[in-house]
Amino acid sequence: MGKGLKPDLYIKSVFSLDINWLKERGIKGVLLDIDNTLITHKQKIPDEKVIGLINQFKENGIKVAIVSNARKKRVSVFNEKLGLYARYRAFKPSNRGFLRAMADLNLVPEETAVIGDQLFTDVRGGNRLGLTTILVEPLDENEPINVRVKRILEKLFLKSEPVE
Ligand SMILES: [Mg+2]
Repeated sequence: MGKGLKPDLYIKSVFSLDINWLKERGIKGVLLDIDNTLITHKQKIPDEKVIGLINQFKENGIKVAIVSNARKKRVSVFNEKLGLYARYRAFKPSNRGFLRAMADLNLVPEETAVIGDQLFTDVRGGNRLGLTTILVEPLDENEPINVRVKRILEKLFLKSEPVE
C-alpha cells in the first residue's frame, strides 16, 4: 500500500532543503524529527542553523511541528526557546503523533511533509498517511549500534530501489 519506504525526496541535509520545492507542492506544514535531523544526539539545544531553518519555514508561511520519538525531557529542552508545537514519544512509524500534530495544526495530508533521517520511522510512517516524505542523511556518524544496523538495511534498500 502506498509508497512504502520510498521517500519523495532524499537530500544530504535538512539545511540544504529548497523551500520552493515544498511550496511548489503546496506544502503548508512540516513535521520535523529532532535526533540526527536537526541536531546530533550529543547536542541538546538548537544551534544557529536550526533557528535559521525554522525562521525560513515561518517566513514562507509553512507551519512547523516537532514529532519526535525522544523522551519528554529531551524534546522540551530542545524546544524551550523555539516554542514550537511539539509531540514527544511519538512512537513513529505509528500514525498517532503525526495525526495529532496535523489535527492540532489544521493540516491535511496533501499539504503536510515529514522530514527525518530514518526510513523505518519517519518515511514509513509518513508514507502510510499519504504525506510527502523527505529523508535526510543523519548528522551524526557515531551512532549507537542498533541505529547503525538500521542504516545498513536502509542503504541496501535505497540501492535496490532508486529514488526518483
Ligand atoms: Mg532521527
